[in-house]
Amino acid sequence: MLNNKVATVTGAGRGMGEAIARTLSAKGAAVVVSDIDGATAETVAASIRDGGGKAVGIRIDVSSEDDAARLAETAVQEFGGLDILVNNAGISTTKLFLETTKQDMERIIGVNLIGAFLCAQAAVRHMLPNGSGRIINIASLSGQRGGIGRSAYGSSKAGLELLTKVMSVELAAKGVLVNNVAPGAIATQMAVEQHDAKTREAYHYLIPQRRYGTPEEVAFMVAFLASDEASHVSGTTVNVDGGFLSAGLMFERE
Ligand code: ADP
Repeated sequence: MLNNKVATVTGAGRGMGEAIARTLSAKGAAVVVSDIDGATAETVAASIRDGGGKAVGIRIDVSSEDDAARLAETAVQEFGGLDILVNNAGISTTKLFLETTKQDMERIIGVNLIGAFLCAQAAVRHMLPNGSGRIINIASLSGQRGGIGRSAYGSSKAGLELLTKVMSVELAAKGVLVNNVAPGAIATQMAVEQHDAKTREAYHYLIPQRRYGTPEEVAFMVAFLASDEASHVSGTTVNVDGGFLSAGLMFERE
């Protein structure tokens, strides 16, 4: 599905990003595994290589313009090109609106939105001469609905969705397609392991599929959007949420 493609994934040292890097590799891509925690990126890359895949691990802070450029350059140097960027690196906080500080807003928007912008800009510069490329941004249901405590995180993800639309209208005719995958409640450390029993029960009630998603279920959608089969999809958001955002009243229970 992704044979001969070269992918870069940010925040790929653990969780969803790790699952995305492993899945793109399993489908045939060579992968630059990047994370602000360089040791975890290298561990994931080494494990992909041990399994017979092509991967390198590097330390990248997505909020640094130089690092964003280095991410794209590493793909070109190591694997001869750059076809796919997955903007997955993210940080989060849950604070009520009045408790959210200017620093919280700057820090979270700086990584989740501006970091994705910088990595995309560097990647697109390498993609345009080839007339093809795919950018997949990991958004969130928190960017589509107002959740309590989500001023900073939700704003950053809503901004990312709009950035995707602008990029897609500017770049689609040049062969670069840009989309979002918005995970719902996914069983990763960041999203769920901190959930208490009451929160877990609430999610099971609110999600029509009656369960959390897995990182792999998000990764499969990313792989599809990166593939040649998704050749007429741009500027959109695919929610991977077990029906969560479609649900209305769910009083009837089996
Ligand atoms: P998820 O639940 O989405 O997998 P995690 O917090 O487990 O969330 O993963 C997010 C990843 O993003 C982590 O590996 C983290 O080190 C990485 N990350 C956070 N900030 C940055 C940054 N500025 N640059 C690159 N990677 C980052």
